[in-house]
Amino acid sequence: MKLVIFDQDLRISDNSALYEAIKQVNLENKALSAIYIFDEINKRSRGDASKWFLHHVLDELSKNLANKIGCQLNIFRGNSLEIIGKLLEDLKVSEIYFNQNFEPQARLLNEKIIKLAKEKNITIFVGEANLLFESGKILNSSNQYFKVFTPFWRKCLENESKIAKPLPILALKNQNLAKNNLRDSIKLADLNLLPKISWDKIMQKTWQFSEEQIWQDFNNFIAKKITNYKQARDFPGLEATSKLSPYLHFGVISVRQIFARVRSYQHQYHQLQNNNINHFLSEIGWREFSYNLLHNFPELPSKNFNQKFDKFPWYQNDEILQKWQKGLTGYPIVDAGMRELWATGWMHNRVRMIVGSFLVKDLLIDWRVGEKWFWDCLVDADMASNTASWQWIAGSGADAAPYFRIFNPTLQSLKFDPEGIYIRKWVPEIAKLPNNLIHEPSQANIFELQQAKIELGKTYPHPLVDHKKARDMAMMAYKSLN
Ligand SMILES: Cc1cc2nc3c(=O)[nH]c(=O)nc-3n(C[C@H](O)[C@H](O)[C@H](O)COP(=O)(O)OP(=O)(O)OC[C@H]3O[C@@H](n4cnc5c(N)ncnc54)[C@H](O)[C@@H]3O)c2cc1C
Repeated sequence: MKLVIFDQDLRISDNSALYEAIKQVNLENKALSAIYIFDEINKRSRGDASKWFLHHVLDELSKNLANKIGCQLNIFRGNSLEIIGKLLEDLKVSEIYFNQNFEPQARLLNEKIIKLAKEKNITIFVGEANLLFESGKILNSSNQYFKVFTPFWRKCLENESKIAKPLPILALKNQNLAKNNLRDSIKLADLNLLPKISWDKIMQKTWQFSEEQIWQDFNNFIAKKITNYKQARDFPGLEATSKLSPYLHFGVISVRQIFARVRSYQHQYHQLQNNNINHFLSEIGWREFSYNLLHNFPELPSKNFNQKFDKFPWYQNDEILQKWQKGLTGYPIVDAGMRELWATGWMHNRVRMIVGSFLVKDLLIDWRVGEKWFWDCLVDADMASNTASWQWIAGSGADAAPYFRIFNPTLQSLKFDPEGIYIRKWVPEIAKLPNNLIHEPSQANIFELQQAKIELGKTYPHPLVDHKKARDMAMMAYKSLN
């Protein structure tokens, strides 16, 4: 019996472990079982939005496995080691197939599975499916890992020819070999990943899960948006980015397929030097870079990459934190972002930077608190990208923004949402303000507020802090580290 274990590779195409297992089954006529284990004992517990997304992804994967491969997904909940140990006995497993997951806890768990398999003389296949380059393999000329993005990505591109070509879907020739309904497996619904009270209406409208549809959307993005990506990606009102992040996180779509599709489009229609397209690929590079950091500094989610920040005098205040979380800071661009996050499980990258900077520099709240909130609310919550990005914003990360580059939320808003399109969408109570006031309602006079039907302090809050004073405080806190 061959056992395929799914993890963050929840797709049937370009899936190294699944492909290899089916290839062998078709050659050797041996039975196969596919499993997914929802393990909150060995891995960091997912936030509610991420659980919601996972439910739908597993549902789609089950259908695809049944309809296109000819086997069923068996779902389990609990300690992976115990469950796998039991399956190895029950099913007389001779081979295990899975793809590497580069989160530190998952890597540890996978090492234990490999050890268990070796003790039992079981053959193990560990594939690569989540990144362009195996995590930890891109090194500089001194054989050290890169701590700065630009040379890291340059090195990746130099090695582009080594990126594995996407694998096709292989179906089982003899579907009777698929062993379904394993003992102790449970129904997807019994994982209880969906909310009891329905808070997911907007999320349902925002995300869809059929692989065909995701590819169609991505092809539209390539056809209509990618050639203007570099500039437009910073404007949240334009919807000019791919929205691939949750699909890449869960492995619904393979990053190798995305890379190959973009390169082939570029070869066909554009110069390889096309800045916009290369810029899009470099963002995929930031994802790789984040995994490179997490691989080499597994404490990234909890410890400052730059230890100097260990003594940073963070401020703790739950009331203020809640105002940030609920989008009630009185800074419209911040509030719009936090509300978009709450409603859709996603936030535009530029706005992630603005709200992040506001939390750690204007409110002086520890980046780990912001990371945790994002982890709970994002459908694309990803240990590597989330923690690397939060540390980047806080100034404590590798290749981080210099601390003194403190975003002014109002100027950011004026620059990147000049007509207030994004703000009006997510903060409708101030939508009637004219463009010159929408970024800073506190600057409107009584007459202007009346006309826009706003009662500051009642229908929309006064600014939580004065940015200029907050900036001075932040700089004082930073200087105290020296
Ligand atoms: C504070 C903060 C927290 C973040 N948390 C996450 C997270 O948990 N998960 C996550 O996937 N991204 C995270 N990002 C990165 C980025 O904001 C999202 O990847 C991006 O907004 C997703 O939208 P998109 O798919 O339309 O991106 P596009 O602009 O279309 O980019 C294509 C892909 O490149 C990758 N990418 C783009 N920007 C980055 C980046 N800065 N770092 C790493 N990968 C990137 C993503 O996989 C993305 O899907 C975070 C950024 C910040 C500032």
